[in-house]
Amino acid sequence: MDIEIECRKCRKLVTKNSILREHVRPRFLDPKNPGGWVSVCKECSQLEAEHQYLEYKTFAISKNKEPYKNFLESIYELNAMINIRLPDKKLSLTMARILYATAITAMETYLSDTFINRVVNNGDHLRRCVETDLEFRNRKLELTDIFKRKETLKEEVQEYLAGVLFHNLAKVRLMYRTVLSIEFPADMTPLFKAVKTRHDIVHRGGKDKSGAITSIDQDKVKSLIITLKAFVKAIEEQLSNTAAGSSFESTQDL
Ligand SMILES: [Zn+2]
Repeated sequence: MDIEIECRKCRKLVTKNSILREHVRPRFLDPKNPGGWVSVCKECSQLEAEHQYLEYKTFAISKNKEPYKNFLESIYELNAMINIRLPDKKLSLTMARILYATAITAMETYLSDTFINRVVNNGDHLRRCVETDLEFRNRKLELTDIFKRKETLKEEVQEYLAGVLFHNLAKVRLMYRTVLSIEFPADMTPLFKAVKTRHDIVHRGGKDKSGAITSIDQDKVKSLIITLKAFVKAIEEQLSNTAAGSSFESTQDL
């Protein structure tokens, strides 16, 4: 019979070949194990890795106190790079595709960090987010846990939002409208198209579903940058015209 070993996290007994020896942060360890090596089952290992990634992402977002300034810096760099002359046309097109995708990422970072930091630093926004996002409707709460849950509510929301793909503009538009009362432009077609092109570049090697190569050149990158700058600027203007303007007002008792 297979030797069974206890997973140090969930305490389940699993066979020796289902156990992993991992070096982890000693969160669920007793202080007697300063080396941080533990035996955990594969499921716990996977969950912990996902959790640590989200935790890292949440931390990085919380450190981005000036998303607009950082967005403009990225755009400035992209504008500088698009004008660099490369030795041949093929390289120029490759560079254009990279810069195109990077510009979308800059927008995505702006949207994510602006939204998340406002939600977790403002009690009203946090409440609106929890009360309107369908995700939270499906989460169970037992009355016995109500106080504990409230204490960690902000972290729970933060972790969920860190996992949202902020280039999903249809979803993000709804979130901005419902939670922050910010409207995206009425015609989102150029932005939706740009996100699709970015998807083809990042996930399909620059080809669309039919196998046709996306024709992104320097001019398309420049025009994308203009669109993104106008889009983000319009959001910033609305934010500074509403009570949502001060993004880092302290969170009073929620
Ligand atoms: Zn386990």
